[in-house]
Amino acid sequence: MQTAYIALGSNLGNRLARLRQAVSGLQRVAVLVRCSPVYEGPAHTLMPNDVSPDFLNAVVEIQTDLGGTDLLHACQEIERQGARCRRAPYAPRTIDLDILTFGELTCNTDQLILPHPRLQERRFVLQPWFDLAPETYIPSPIDSTVSAVLASCRDKINLVRTPWLLMNERNETST
Ligand code: AMP
Repeated sequence: MQTAYIALGSNLGNRLARLRQAVSGLQRVAVLVRCSPVYEGPAHTLMPNDVSPDFLNAVVEIQTDLGGTDLLHACQEIERQGARCRRAPYAPRTIDLDILTFGELTCNTDQLILPHPRLQERRFVLQPWFDLAPETYIPSPIDSTVSAVLASCRDKINLVRTPWLLMNERNETST
């Protein structure tokens, strides 16, 4: 079994339900170990004046017998089931799953890059990952821990930690 960390994001429709559907989808192909808190924050956009709904983001830890490429395909199937509309880079999306790390595997193919190539620029990934597993080692070329990468992250977006849980559906009604 390999331990993998997966980033989840949604900024369209019932965002919390989308994140939870993704968690349920992952539970069908892997052992769900734990989930981070859910954060809300502004969308990254290509142009400063672009308007895009705020995101909910979280990170989950799983253990799986799948290989890296099979896990990617499973994530893409979950995106399809979540009716993800892949229109353009940075366009709003119902659900997005990114594999952050897969054990200590490093790879760079057309389909899959590990560790995820943009994780260092994304506070919305690093902050929930830090809450979940701060001392997790991120392999080469990053070769550092989640806490160290977060400490040097230059992304200054304003993230708000929500009270919502991915594993508990009783503590909220919306979003
Ligand atoms: P995005 O639209 O940002 O979700 O990017 C999806 C594309 O990134 C797909 O074509 C994937 O094959 C590719 N990709 C490369 N590395 C990864 C990764 N670590 N996790 C998820 N998608 C990846």
